[in-house]
Amino acid sequence: MTTVGILGGGQLARMLALSGAPLGLRFLVMDTVADACAGQCAPLLVGDYRDEAALAEFASKVDVATFDFENVPAESAEWLARRIPVFPNPRALASAQDRMVEKSLFRELGIPVPDFMDVPDRAALDAAVVAIGTPCILKTRRLGYDGKGQFRIRSTADVDAAWDALGAQAAKVGLILEAFVPFERELSVVAVRGRDGGFRTWPLTENWHVDGVLSASLAPAACDPELAAQAQAHARALAERLDYVGVFALELFCRDGVLLANELAPRVHNSGHWTIEGAETSQFQNHLRAVLGLPLGETRMLGHACMLNWIGAMPDAGPVLRAAGGHWHDYGKQPREGRKVGHATLRANDAAELARMLRETGAALGRMEQVAPVLAALGSL
Ligand code: ATP
Ligand code: MG
Ligand code: MG
Repeated sequence: MTTVGILGGGQLARMLALSGAPLGLRFLVMDTVADACAGQCAPLLVGDYRDEAALAEFASKVDVATFDFENVPAESAEWLARRIPVFPNPRALASAQDRMVEKSLFRELGIPVPDFMDVPDRAALDAAVVAIGTPCILKTRRLGYDGKGQFRIRSTADVDAAWDALGAQAAKVGLILEAFVPFERELSVVAVRGRDGGFRTWPLTENWHVDGVLSASLAPAACDPELAAQAQAHARALAERLDYVGVFALELFCRDGVLLANELAPRVHNSGHWTIEGAETSQFQNHLRAVLGLPLGETRMLGHACMLNWIGAMPDAGPVLRAAGGHWHDYGKQPREGRKVGHATLRANDAAELARMLRETGAALGRMEQVAPVLAALGSL
């Protein structure tokens, strides 16, 4: 009996545990809070990631460890890796934890990135705004997620407000200034690399964010195959450089037909949730196969899929449950503003059928605003 340990007990750990059940796997999830939603589907160990006694207990009970979120302290990941197999490796995790390190790596590998500069202090911010120009975005280097820890600078008049909002973070987690990319589309490539170096990607996904939080994903993205091949090549270069094992996502902006890398998520990713019902093998199952050294599953799509995120509170499940090809995921979380509490995936055999499903469920849920950009991308608004 193999037990997989997961650091972090959110919905990603929950979906990993659910997808691992058919493989006969057991799980132990570690989180800092007792109501972590993965705890409803797998045994939960409550403890601080920096607490050696808690980590030792975790290590003694699992055969291999992985992550449901990227901000596990790198030292804790290293501590574990000296005792049990840990995938992805702590160096890969650390590279994705710091936007400066991450973007420098993209550049080194020849992957285009928006202009960026380190901002250690206020004088550096002024210099960076001049060098990069406006509009631009000030972000924390570490610990940001769902668009938190970001400030958009539209003109030099916003610099004071940006520093007021984030200046105190400079000494704690670092700051980075990035050029604002007026992208036509946001895309992501979700990829998996096995222990033996085997590499696969799922079809390119198009994503829409609202207030920095993912709102909808569409797969396959309607884009030219050359772009998809380029995204795939970027992902493979990163995976090989980092000796990455497991699933990760590379978030990309598409501007004038050019792909610019935004960030690397060293874990299963929200833009890959559609793979549960929309692909031969889901990102969750392939992540487990990868970390366990099992053969990777086929990543081909089963038709066309759209995932809609439920933020704050769950809508009425009825319209999605009644739709043929409709799939419902409730993470069992307490409602809270801005919190990802669930998602739905609509799967259809072709794009026209998917558009019809989206129109119907969007209308029934009173969420036409959320589905409208997806309908536009499907050419049927
Ligand atoms: P995640 O939850 O994906 O980890 P995050 O907090 O790490 O989010 P980013 O992915 O950097 O943040 O930014 C969130 C969203 O904000 C992006 O998906 C994009 O829509 C927008 N954004 C971020 N950086 C830029 C940029 N340089 N130019 C234009 N838009 C941007
Ligand atoms: Mg991020
Ligand atoms: Mg992101």
